[in-house]
Amino acid sequence: MEIQKIGVIGAGQMGNGIAHVCAVAGFDVALHDITRERIEAGLASINGNLARLVARKKITEKQREGALARIAVAEALDALSEVDLVIESATEEEAVKRQIFAELCPLMRDDAIVTTNTSSISITRLAAATDRPERFMGLHFMNPVPAMELVELIRGIATDDSTFATITAFVDKLGKTIAVSEDFPAFMVNRILLPMINEAVYTLYEGVGSVESIDTAMRLGAHHPMGPLQLADFIGLDTCLSIMQVLYEGLADTKYRPCPLLVKYVEAGWLGRKTQRGFYDYRGDTPVPTR
Ligand code: NAD
Repeated sequence: MEIQKIGVIGAGQMGNGIAHVCAVAGFDVALHDITRERIEAGLASINGNLARLVARKKITEKQREGALARIAVAEALDALSEVDLVIESATEEEAVKRQIFAELCPLMRDDAIVTTNTSSISITRLAAATDRPERFMGLHFMNPVPAMELVELIRGIATDDSTFATITAFVDKLGKTIAVSEDFPAFMVNRILLPMINEAVYTLYEGVGSVESIDTAMRLGAHHPMGPLQLADFIGLDTCLSIMQVLYEGLADTKYRPCPLLVKYVEAGWLGRKTQRGFYDYRGDTPVPTR
């Protein structure tokens, strides 16, 4: 099957990025969220991000207009009844995703494919909540979607070969590179990245280095574009903690235990950039380390 029409569920930071790259690649997109306001907020972000790409001469004004014209507001889920592919990118809660699939699947064509952008929930378990486990898989984009080159593909136990081949061809058309992961907690990128970030928090917690010295060490000593604590603030400390908990519980290995200092920051509501305070304080002109 060739994908032409796509439904994106969830117009948050990932969903609007996914709608953006699909529309730029020439696909028709129906963007759905729980309210019209959220869909419009997603469209406003897409508009701003496309305008920035025009200013940087990465795309033309005509391409921006064409991409925006290809994205339709889908207030009700039945607006997705004719799509070839759904990419679910709603809030990272299993109950929310299960409810979406229960409502969505009866409305869709039998041959349509359903995918999820989950960062951590088992693909096989989510597939079992649909009427089409063989046409269901993980399609995990990275943040920010328009800038990041990689997409992780994850098959559930029942995903069939033709679904996998169709999604592989689709990701090629988006111009992204594929890495195939087995269905294990946090897949590959987050399985490797988050323990490194957690270890950086332990390094701070044990007093081995300050926030600034840890980040400088990894920027200049390992050529990472961002220090691990700076990166944690960018991802969101609540998200970092929840992925560590999924690793800890899902793999039942104490090497994944979340650092108590990470827990403390989350309990304080210091979640990183989105709350203006995390390992750095972003309320002034330049970020100031909080330890
Ligand atoms: P977000 O909070 O920015 O957006 C989630 C959106 O889902 C919100 O707009 C919310 O209104 C909507 N939503 C909630 N319930 C819904 C429902 N029943 N129907 C339709 N829409 C609903 O979150 P996000 O960062 O965009 O994350 C979305 C998904 O992407 C999650 O599964 C997350 O794990 C995954 N993901 C996140 C990142 C990241 O770095 N943030 C990276 C890769 C994947």
